[in-house]
Amino acid sequence: MTALTELQARMIESVRISIDAANDYFNQSLVVPDVRFDLRGKSAGQARFEYGRAYGLVKKAKPVIRFNRLLMEENPLAFVNEVAPHEAAHVIANQLYGRNIKPHGPEWQMIMRSVLNVEPSVTHQFDISRASPKPYVYQCKCPGLTHSLSAIRHNRVQRQKSSYLCRKCSSRLDYTGQTA
Ligand SMILES: [Zn+2]
Ligand SMILES: [Zn+2]
Repeated sequence: MTALTELQARMIESVRISIDAANDYFNQSLVVPDVRFDLRGKSAGQARFEYGRAYGLVKKAKPVIRFNRLLMEENPLAFVNEVAPHEAAHVIANQLYGRNIKPHGPEWQMIMRSVLNVEPSVTHQFDISRASPKPYVYQCKCPGLTHSLSAIRHNRVQRQKSSYLCRKCSSRLDYTGQTA
């Protein structure tokens, strides 16, 4: 288990703040979901509920929120301010109203608007084309050759925590300012 990044910690905090707001609003003590950052593909986030199988155990559902780390690192503010409350609202609605409501139905929308003060938009306006696994274009000293770096590597370079070398010319890769 690696240490949380600052952004991951802020996301977990944002989810917790949302759950706390619902607890105050509804006078409840809702279960705080586990938060993971292992979602891939085009979705920004996903709320999952793991139900107990035995009769009557539905209330022991264990909520899990998964975030798309790649999209998150490219859209940190939108994730903290919109995606985290969006997924938290699913967890809140599920605990208050059960599993048979529509995911983005009136209950979820009311929680977004009235409890979390976030406009309930169903899809996030992220540029999916940039969800390419290695969107950042770097160059070395080889003529005409470019290299593609992932968001994680790009961020490490930008924070001057890493640099990467071309295997052919052994020169350092420099960011071109462009994304694929
Ligand atoms: Zn949703
Ligand atoms: Zn090179």
